[in-house]
Amino acid sequence: MNIRNQLCIGGKWCDASDGKTFEVLNPVTNETITAVQSASEADMNRAIENSRQAFDEVWSKTTPFERSALLHKLAEAVESNAAFLAQVETDDVGKPIFESTNIDVASAGVTLHYFADICVEVLGGVKASPYSEVFDYTLREPLGVVGAIIPWNFPFLIAARKSGSALAAGNTMVLKPASWAPLSTILFGALANEAGLPPGVLNVVPAPGPTAGKVFTENPDLEEITFTGSTAVGIGLYGRCSTGLKGCTLELGSKGAGLVMPDCAMDETVAGTLFGAYLNQGECCCALTRLIVHEDVYDEFVAKFIEGTKAIQVGPPAAEDTRLGPLVHPDHLKVVLDYVEAGKAEGATLACGGGRITDGDMAKGNYIEPAVFTDVTPDMKIWKEEIFGPVVTVTKAGSIDEMVALGNDTEYGLASSVWTNDLRLAHTIAPRIRAGTVWFNLHNFVFPSAPYPTRGSSGVGFELGKEGVLALTRIKNVMVSLFPGGFAWY
Ligand code: NAD
Repeated sequence: MNIRNQLCIGGKWCDASDGKTFEVLNPVTNETITAVQSASEADMNRAIENSRQAFDEVWSKTTPFERSALLHKLAEAVESNAAFLAQVETDDVGKPIFESTNIDVASAGVTLHYFADICVEVLGGVKASPYSEVFDYTLREPLGVVGAIIPWNFPFLIAARKSGSALAAGNTMVLKPASWAPLSTILFGALANEAGLPPGVLNVVPAPGPTAGKVFTENPDLEEITFTGSTAVGIGLYGRCSTGLKGCTLELGSKGAGLVMPDCAMDETVAGTLFGAYLNQGECCCALTRLIVHEDVYDEFVAKFIEGTKAIQVGPPAAEDTRLGPLVHPDHLKVVLDYVEAGKAEGATLACGGGRITDGDMAKGNYIEPAVFTDVTPDMKIWKEEIFGPVVTVTKAGSIDEMVALGNDTEYGLASSVWTNDLRLAHTIAPRIRAGTVWFNLHNFVFPSAPYPTRGSSGVGFELGKEGVLALTRIKNVMVSLFPGGFAWY
């Protein structure tokens, strides 16, 4: 398998019709890896037309068992190319190879196998009937062509989630990779071909975001949009979908909290919250960004968390022992560094990190020291806004009620965690946390069988789980007369 930089439509590779390209940078050096073909509106419309034809003529006629077998083959194609895919993801995103191997690519394989298994469970059901002579049941039918737009932080894994669930439900898909990190997603086209998916079932079309947004919302042959990315772009898409009554699932930004309770298991909590805060350089939608710590354990926990932050191995992502690589793009590095300045200007205490790393070769890349701010209050920008980098805020609280109120003090609502050994506290607090997911003594665990719901400015609808597949179907109700001799009223 080799890197690809073209559009994959109908199982064939092609250039953009207007010859436009965009550059993809390696975050380690900010040098160009390759120039990728950038689809025009005409190319995107052609991809949708091709996917529509594949849906009407081929995919909608397959049985769930046939779809299941093909999705298992796609998962196997991922597994047999795993080392190469992990390398591409690391070169493109900057994430440590340890992570792209053990999380991104490994989870993508598991995800596709899961959706392959789920194919045969996308079923309606028999409904209770008030008439013994009327039999009623529902069918679950695919929507048609689904358009997917994905972000740069977990591109391969998110591509696997979106395509796996949509195809399992019987839809075809046009997949738009992220512009800063498109390479592993483009390879999905090659994997689909290798696995023997019928041409057009999964078209991969790198394009500028606004072009994809315009075509996906306006082309009537595309039935549904599934978007993962920033809240601002998601809101714009949602508005345009509503005018055409087009379905739209949005997985957006967040500002997750970690509530450190007085009875927590201290060392486990430090290790778990470090993973929550710094996985993927903190460029995680569900990252632990705001630590809210009970005053009884504040001093000990904060000292250990800062010590743990300072000990993280920052370095070139290709090195096996690196646990924090460069940020994805120089523009994003600037955004994160500006937040560090804002935190200092607003009066928070920068307890460690926050500077750009310019030692040796690292000067060429987008490296930043992971940062911890203490004395953070809810009026500050670094408390309210998603930073999307390795910057964590710490706030002290005097009671559990105050901790819950602070945790919920955000417009977002994707995922938060609570760190406690008290079973009764855990189960009474879970319903009070305003988030789609609540973890206990864990953070940043997402897997395909568990739904991943959203609340507030974190999105609309949800993905994953059997529920996520059913959300990509429509229900048809079927009613059958069993009246002997038919039903006669007049
Ligand atoms: P982004 O919104 O800038 O881009 C996401 C995708 O949208 C990219 O493919 C981009 O090209 C495209 N896009 C840009 N403008 C568009 C437009 N006008 N119409 C349609 N598409 C457009 O986000 P990003 O910087 O790539 O990703 C970071 C954001 O994604 C963060 O806010 C993060 O929290 C969020 N995210 C959420 C989840 C989740 O599951 N909730 C997962 C990962 C990332």
